Amino acid sequence: MRTFFRNILIVLSYLTSIPFWTRLALKKPLVRVWCLHEVKDNQVWYFLEKLSWLKKNYNVLTPEQFKNRQFSTDRINVLLTFDDGYESWFRNVLSILNEENVKAVFFINNEFLSQSSKLTDAGHTLGGHSVSHERLTQLPADKLTAEVSQSVKSDFFAYPYGDKQSFNDAVIDEVKKAGYQYGFTILPGFNNLDTNPYLLHRDSLDPNVPNFIFKLWLKGNYDLWKKLF
Ligand SMILES: [Zn+2]
Repeated sequence: MRTFFRNILIVLSYLTSIPFWTRLALKKPLVRVWCLHEVKDNQVWYFLEKLSWLKKNYNVLTPEQFKNRQFSTDRINVLLTFDDGYESWFRNVLSILNEENVKAVFFINNEFLSQSSKLTDAGHTLGGHSVSHERLTQLPADKLTAEVSQSVKSDFFAYPYGDKQSFNDAVIDEVKKAGYQYGFTILPGFNNLDTNPYLLHRDSLDPNVPNFIFKLWLKGNYDLWKKLF
């Protein structure tokens, strides 16, 4: 039911994307980050369809371009990220990314480390996602340090769960101390050159979300509502 109302709100907000058009008119770079998890066998087609659409309509960034802030100002930029660690990535994701010539960031827990060379061999970037996917804000200081500092070494870190309760100043300090340059949440929104690099927005959308919702969401029509509720 919640999803139903959410979708209605997104559609209703379609005509109110003034901030989006203003930014694009002012040639300020806009970056969305798509957060995916598993791509199940019955979701492959949906994933391919959305990725092809993104490639036609958005500027799909490599992790390297994201890091170096090589953003387009004519089109919305998008970076693909995958969280946690799934066997289905090897069946359903890597071949499609390869075909579409897209490079992504894979935020993996340490449990998935033994498989990680298959991702890096394909040219993708690993990101830290803590050792054991605990809610970092609820850990004692020494445990927090261990969960972050012993995570995958990378420029990129994604807070486990990613919601507002998944990070605070202490967590962000640890992430900085461990050498990460970027911290990703799952709070939806545009990232731009002013966005705090440790509070980056991501859009957590399953591959099979309806296409019109996907397009409206990435265009920021849901961002306003997310702030209201
Ligand atoms: Zn996760």
